[in-house]
Amino acid sequence: MNRLGVIDRYRAFLPVTDKTPVVSLQEGSTPLLPAPRLARELGLPETSVYLKFEGMNPTGSFKDRGMTVAVSKAVEENASAVVCASTGNTAASAAAYAARAGLRCVVLLPDGKVAAGKLAQSLIHGAEVLAVKGNFDAALDLARRASQELGLALVNSVNPYRIAGQKTAAFEVVEALGRPPEYQFMPVGNAGNITAYWAGYREVATREGLGLPRMMGFQAWGAAPIVLGKPVAKPETIATAIRIGNPASWKAAEAARDESRGAIARVKDAEILAAYRMLARLEGVFCEPSSAAGVAGLVALAKAKAIEIADPKELRIVCVLTGHGLKDPETPKSLPHKWRAVPADFSALKKALAKR
Ligand SMILES: *Cc1c(COP(=O)(O)O)cnc(C)c1O
Repeated sequence: MNRLGVIDRYRAFLPVTDKTPVVSLQEGSTPLLPAPRLARELGLPETSVYLKFEGMNPTGSFKDRGMTVAVSKAVEENASAVVCASTGNTAASAAAYAARAGLRCVVLLPDGKVAAGKLAQSLIHGAEVLAVKGNFDAALDLARRASQELGLALVNSVNPYRIAGQKTAAFEVVEALGRPPEYQFMPVGNAGNITAYWAGYREVATREGLGLPRMMGFQAWGAAPIVLGKPVAKPETIATAIRIGNPASWKAAEAARDESRGAIARVKDAEILAAYRMLARLEGVFCEPSSAAGVAGLVALAKAKAIEIADPKELRIVCVLTGHGLKDPETPKSLPHKWRAVPADFSALKKALAKR
């Protein structure tokens, strides 16, 4: 089946014209999965929880929604190369879309802290990968400078075309539910995505006279600058996609929080991993650890009975799962699992299956 990418689907709401060459991998149109087993586990109405599985985008993360617009505009503006700093997924996406457009792609990765699958993607698409001996924030400073002084098009989320493309996810949620949810839970790293969703929800609300969700953003405990109210010099978390100490869209994220009567809070790595496992085991959805930060936030608020339920049948809570679990094959292996070796022998197998 041929599906439209986000530019062709939402052209009227994006900064493109008939002259913009569309560079697309048919991104977007991702599933909004009901999560009744998770909802039941959390003591919430069974029909209330939905997962926007952005891991189903072409390179396995929501970054593709913004990248199709950013790279299309780079081509329109005659750029010959793109540059980004990345915790991995922006790089994977930039590398793929640049390959499709025939552009040079330079990616700056924080040394040694990028999940294996993301690095593999950047390499196979032919990006020039540079490991910066420093964290993401240092890499972003370098990317900005390379853009200003060497004329490379910067495709980080400070690029407004990225935010414009990413807001289309909010349009899809409203289409799928028939209205906006009461709550949206999501991870916050550089804070571009919460900014984009809020812009998208505000746009549809204005256009169609609808309400707005409360935006609930979650940072990792050791990388929570917005929660702490100051940059974190050495951000640390297993959730590498949100291991960011000084978010570029800090102010816009605070505006989304305040205007929506939402919250930005932090969750511990252990809570993130518990939510990551719950999603995999209760719903069959494998996301990357960072993606589970929003769900970890929902778990904490549900436990504290802090979710307002006006009408249980009508409550809608969307959790954005930002990236696919296969990007990071190491984390599952680091968790305790039950597995055993058996001899190649049926009676041994029978015995093994009898004791669970
Ligand atoms: C980029 C990314 C995030 C963080 O999004 P921001 O826009 O930087 O806040 C979260 N999860 C995954 C999987 C990502 O790739």
